[in-house]
Amino acid sequence: MAEILLKVSGLRVAYGGIQAVKGVDMEVHEGELVSLIGSNGAGKTTTMKAITGLLPMNDGDIEYLGRSIKGKGAWDLVREGLVMVPEGRGVFARMTITENLQMGAYTRDDQAGIKDDIERMFNIFPRLRERKDQLAGTMSGGEQQMLAMGRALMSRPKVLLLDEPSMGLSPIMVDKIFEVVGDVYKLGVTILLVEQNASRALQMANRGYVMESGIITMTGPGETLLHDPRVRAAYLGE
Ligand code: ATP
Repeated sequence: MAEILLKVSGLRVAYGGIQAVKGVDMEVHEGELVSLIGSNGAGKTTTMKAITGLLPMNDGDIEYLGRSIKGKGAWDLVREGLVMVPEGRGVFARMTITENLQMGAYTRDDQAGIKDDIERMFNIFPRLRERKDQLAGTMSGGEQQMLAMGRALMSRPKVLLLDEPSMGLSPIMVDKIFEVVGDVYKLGVTILLVEQNASRALQMANRGYVMESGIITMTGPGETLLHDPRVRAAYLGE
């Protein structure tokens, strides 16, 4: 069995008095693509933010590379290779594509390596090369999603957390983004993917988790969940 990169145990996260995540256990192994699905408000984004140090946990623990990361901030975790692409992408609208990619390497100081990696990003995302001097805010939603992924990859993550990369995109762009997620995975990056598009997310996942009202209700191989009648009824409109 591959090394466990991420191990979440009994995670609880609250916003004031509201308990959004109520005791979540999850694991992500090296080389896996794990999908986390669930309806709106289930607590998926909150779980991802707690994992990446953007929200404090009330209880439980998160281990990354075998060590607890409780209390560590997002900055330190990015440096250690645990990186999230947030819902809504959050690119720097008034900076160019190239500048956004450079920002993604803010934890690094190897200038030559950074330059090579920008070139790599342009090879992975040819659309970004065509627009490298364009302001990010003027790009389409799908292009901004590619840029957000490229920017995250610039920090050379071991584990990439993607929060709803297909959200708000046209059907053609949704196809393209799932293709790109598959390409990034093939590069050897371990991925934890949160998606509303449960069918696509489970099709490409080694394993999946289903979250409802702050807890994990089902887990198993992506293929198994995809054919589970409860998942099909709740998330695939059958
Ligand atoms: P979605 O797909 O809609 O993003 P989600 O599964 O990612 O849903 P979360 O965004 O994690 O769900 O939200 C879980 C719960 O926490 C929801 O009930 C939500 O209203 C609440 N919540 C999220 N952010 C905040 C906040 N900043 N303050 C208060 N409550 C919040």
